[in-house]
Amino acid sequence: MIEIKDKKDCSGCNACKNICPKNAIEMVNDEKGFRYPRVNRDLCIECNLCNKICPIKNKVKINNNPIAYACYNKNLEERLNSSSGGIFILLAKQILEKGGYVVGATYDEKFNVKHTIINDFKDIKLLQTSKYVQSDVSDIYIRVKELLESGKYILFTGTPCQIEGLNSFLGKKYDKLYLQDIICHGVPSPLVWKKYIEYRLEKDNEKPININFRNKDNGWKKFNLKFQYTSKEYKNNQTKDYYLLAFLKNVILRDSCYDCRFKKKNRISDITLADFWGVENILPDLFDDKGTSLVIISSDKGKELFEKIDKDIVKKEISFEDAIKFNKNMTSSVEKNKNRDKFFEKLNDISFDKLCKKYVLDNKLKNKVFRAIKRLVKN
Ligand SMILES: Cc1cc2nc3c(=O)[nH]c(=O)nc-3n(C[C@H](O)[C@H](O)[C@H](O)COP(=O)(O)OP(=O)(O)OC[C@H]3O[C@@H](n4cnc5c(N)ncnc54)[C@H](O)[C@@H]3O)c2cc1C
Ligand code: SF4
Ligand code: SF4
Repeated sequence: MIEIKDKKDCSGCNACKNICPKNAIEMVNDEKGFRYPRVNRDLCIECNLCNKICPIKNKVKINNNPIAYACYNKNLEERLNSSSGGIFILLAKQILEKGGYVVGATYDEKFNVKHTIINDFKDIKLLQTSKYVQSDVSDIYIRVKELLESGKYILFTGTPCQIEGLNSFLGKKYDKLYLQDIICHGVPSPLVWKKYIEYRLEKDNEKPININFRNKDNGWKKFNLKFQYTSKEYKNNQTKDYYLLAFLKNVILRDSCYDCRFKKKNRISDITLADFWGVENILPDLFDDKGTSLVIISSDKGKELFEKIDKDIVKKEISFEDAIKFNKNMTSSVEKNKNRDKFFEKLNDISFDKLCKKYVLDNKLKNKVFRAIKRLVKN
């Protein structure tokens, strides 16, 4: 049966939970709010399927030749309503037009992030834009398998660990399944997200009707978080908003994200989507600060799907090395912030703003001024 000795060795992909024939595995939150498998020994029949399919314990080796493009969606409204260049919505349309299903991350009514399945274009907005929180895939691999077995087309989207989790769970290739992952910074704790939402409620005194992590009113390059309320809005960028700061400074990520086994050049996904960071230096013609995507094609199936959206995009092929020059998250993990453990230790003890002021904000300047005053007084 599955046993997690070191938290780094579990990405929370849910493959073990989904494969268990006795429903003996449940995913349980740890004190930081990340989900880990827990086996009910009374139900477990020791079939060991969970260990056999865990994508961290069983590495897959892929030999392919990824091809990279800088591109963006020609439809400006669709692009502005997406995190990067608005490529996901175009891929999704292709599958939905065939009567297929698209799987991706959405919010529930309390703005928790979870995976869901859609098959109607009117629901595409649910999946659009990045939610920088670990998404709960629950038992979705089982439902995806049922749809595939009944002959449906599927576009499954998610983090690289979720894509490998699904691939291991399925155990065989399906012609009608398209896998699309992302270049992944890492996923923040759902508990920290919940605390941040509570903090905003306290500050803004209103329940949000929508949340966008990548609002583009002030451009694409700077992350901008927007809470839309009925009567007003909260908007702040990555240099000021506490949640974005904690995410981008690597304070609130899952343990496995600091030692990610899924960040690599050769991936099992058909297509990888990302922001084309540095495009203004590498391909200035494709930069207008409204969002440029980096698209990496890793299979014939990916190539075939990408060719279908050719008329809807502006694109330019680029070498893999140039494509990831400013996006190291394709192949390497981010470094754990030195204050991460202290942040989580105090998560339930002090208010969100105090917590961030203490463990997230850069205190270098404050310390410098403090030391200068001390020196002055001493002299
Ligand atoms: C947690 C996270 C970390 C990321 N880190 C990087 C990075 O380091 N570098 C980089 O270049 N790009 C990163 N991205 C990808 C980037 O933000 C865009 O999602 C991607 O470029 C697609 O953009 P788009 O404009 O084509 O479509 P969009 O409409 O913006 O993207 C929607 C797609 O994102 C998926 N998605 C949204 N939230 C989640 C989630 N929580 N978990 C899994 N899938 C989700 C949806 O299922 C859908 O497929 C990250 C995305 C996420 C969710
Ligand atoms: S990585 Fe996935 S399959 Fe492996 S133990 Fe964690 S949740 Fe289970
Ligand atoms: S950094 Fe790696 S382990 Fe973490 S969510 Fe992304 S793919 Fe999964």
